[in-house]
Amino acid sequence: MGGFVDYHCKHCRTELTEIAIGRGRQSSPYLRLFRCAKCKTVGSTWVEDGAVPRCGTCYEPGVELLPDDVTRIDCPKCGQPARFTPREGSWE
Ligand SMILES: [Zn+2]
Ligand SMILES: [Zn+2]
Repeated sequence: MGGFVDYHCKHCRTELTEIAIGRGRQSSPYLRLFRCAKCKTVGSTWVEDGAVPRCGTCYEPGVELLPDDVTRIDCPKCGQPARFTPREGSWE
């Protein structure tokens, strides 16, 4: 089962809620967190084993994937420390 996280940067007031991550009924593809330097977003995107990950927003290939348990990153918008928080709930 997959889960959800929230993203919050208090510096530029970016707030994203219920970002889906993880695996559903099938093991692949699955949702991974990413940070895109091109369109300056974070989010989750479908990743297939062996395939190049793409940004879920601008489809830029080769975006930086983040570990599922990441809690702190530098905000792609403002460069300040921002955080991910695990959220209740799951999806299949
Ligand atoms: Zn920010
Ligand atoms: Zn992008």
